[in-house]
Amino acid sequence: ARSGWASRAVQRGRIVAAAEVEQSYIMIKPDGVQRGLVGEIISRFEKKGFLLKGLKLFQCSKDLAQEHYKDLKDKPFFPTLIDYITSGPVVCMAWEGVGVVASARKLIGATNPLQAEPGTIRGDLAVQTGRNVVHGSDSPDNGKREISLWFKEGELCEWESVQTPWLIE
Ligand code: ADP
Repeated sequence: ARSGWASRAVQRGRIVAAAEVEQSYIMIKPDGVQRGLVGEIISRFEKKGFLLKGLKLFQCSKDLAQEHYKDLKDKPFFPTLIDYITSGPVVCMAWEGVGVVASARKLIGATNPLQAEPGTIRGDLAVQTGRNVVHGSDSPDNGKREISLWFKEGELCEWESVQTPWLIE
């Protein structure tokens, strides 16, 4: 079912496929929290115009971190990655919008912050791959998977932003 602006766009005769509306799981990693970058990072997604559907400060378990990064379990850096992600609270977010997954990856920048373009979060705010301050889902399917992994039933909010008509014609 279409919800929010997508259904209104359809009512107005515009073609907005429900399938185009994606969700991305964005997470401020423990270094981003410790370095006081929470507001700065959230602000970039807010200003871009995506819709915040879920948000919490959370200390995750090793099991959850391992499940989240299961595709990397054979990498040599996997144990230190799990130590890093569980080393303090993270900020978990679900952001929604058309094209949000790929766009968030662009806003975040390359995995290695030294190679990330200026203007991106990692390009502006970090120097090392192992301390790259933020995570963003790499596909819409992983967006769904990660949001259901990190958020419980009822933790996401259905709401409409007054900005929407000023962001989407
Ligand atoms: P991204 O987070 O940009 O999608 P990956 O999925 O390849 O990147 O890796 C997940 C996370 O694992 C990275 O964000 C980073 O924190 C960590 N990581 C990746 N490669 C390395 C590495 N060579 N050394 C240490 N940590 C790494």
